[in-house]
Amino acid sequence: MPEKLLPFTKNQLVEIIEKYPTPFHIYDEKAIRENAREFKNAFSWNEGFKEFFAVKAAPNPYLMKILHNEGFGADCSSMAELILAEKTGITGNEIMFTSNDTPADEFLKAKELQAIINLDDISHIAYLEKYAGLPALICFRYNPGRLKKGNVIIGHPEEAKYGFTHKQLIEGYKICRDKGIKRFGIHTMVASNELDAGYFVETAEILFNLIVELSHKLDIRFEFVNLGGGVGIPYRPEQERIDLPAMSRGIKEKYEKIIVANGLGPIKLYTECGRYITGPYGYLVARVLHIKNTYKRFAGLDACMANLMRPALYGAYHHITVMGKEKKQHDIIYDVTGSLCENNDKFAIDRVLPELQRGDIVVIHDAGAHGYAMGFNYNGKLRSAELLLRENGEVIPIRRPETVDDYLATLDLAGLPSFQV
Ligand SMILES: *Cc1c(COP(=O)(O)O)cnc(C)c1O
Repeated sequence: MPEKLLPFTKNQLVEIIEKYPTPFHIYDEKAIRENAREFKNAFSWNEGFKEFFAVKAAPNPYLMKILHNEGFGADCSSMAELILAEKTGITGNEIMFTSNDTPADEFLKAKELQAIINLDDISHIAYLEKYAGLPALICFRYNPGRLKKGNVIIGHPEEAKYGFTHKQLIEGYKICRDKGIKRFGIHTMVASNELDAGYFVETAEILFNLIVELSHKLDIRFEFVNLGGGVGIPYRPEQERIDLPAMSRGIKEKYEKIIVANGLGPIKLYTECGRYITGPYGYLVARVLHIKNTYKRFAGLDACMANLMRPALYGAYHHITVMGKEKKQHDIIYDVTGSLCENNDKFAIDRVLPELQRGDIVVIHDAGAHGYAMGFNYNGKLRSAELLLRENGEVIPIRRPETVDDYLATLDLAGLPSFQV
């Protein structure tokens, strides 16, 4: 089986661990930058192409700043994410606010930052107008329903809670047009972790055709089309990366055939990927705490699903490298677990690994998106540190680990003695 590469050696990692105890997440700046450039270049045929990094995938302002430096904006969907963007120095039309079931104060904040507002529902037009006022530029999220087959994580579009129906889209743009709005965008996102380039070409085609229909029917002009996120990464070593050039070429062909041919260009192409941008370039580093042999063989780590819940949540595969044992015979089957009192707290089930010992350093791959970000405090588990491996090889902390005091911070322990029971 092909082994996955790492940006550090065992000796380097041992040194890092001396300073920053496990578990921690570590991100590879060089690889993130190179990937960001490659992504941007792939779509350079489209003037105005922009990737809005989905903040929820890795909500750390240091990573956001690196990506902003590479020309990316931020895709936000909550108050905290909007504030993270603001603190990072990302404002105005570099923020895409794609949320759903949105509270009024978040619309207000998005409006204050002059973010591009992408509405999830037709009823939000009046809601936005009432609480924040309508912006000069508006975007709607389209749900293609049965036009498009879904995938495992996001489900079938017609079952999904997101977006406008086709009919609502026509009505929605009409309402906004009649209220004097002149600038429009359109968005959809129907895939998650999709590795088939053709899927995105098909999605683009649906949106482009919709733009033709809406432009003609309503006599409005679209400035941008946002293809959403959902571009997948090869979690398994035998999987291939998505064919980005083919995806870009396919979209360009449709763009020319549909948008340009109908005299509707230029339209800016936007994406809001998270996983593809940082996923492969973040690692969860942990150590083996206990080996246990019962009906199965268990390797218990000092990390748990509070640090990376994708395996427990979706049965997702995350590749595991045991540092220094890469070349050893992989001939023992382990369940690799955490310490949470939940039996699904497993990073891997029946994984063939080299023989493990207490203290072994274990690297869990592809944790750079939807990894730390999904962390939680169940069972009193604390979120780990986040570290950044700089391009010059230096390692800096970009988030300290939580302490028990952080866990207790929302409790009024001083008031406890006077609480009568
Ligand atoms: C989650 C999400 C993204 C990013 O998804 P990835 O799979 O990380 O690319 C983008 N846009 C919206 C609206 C999302 O909910």
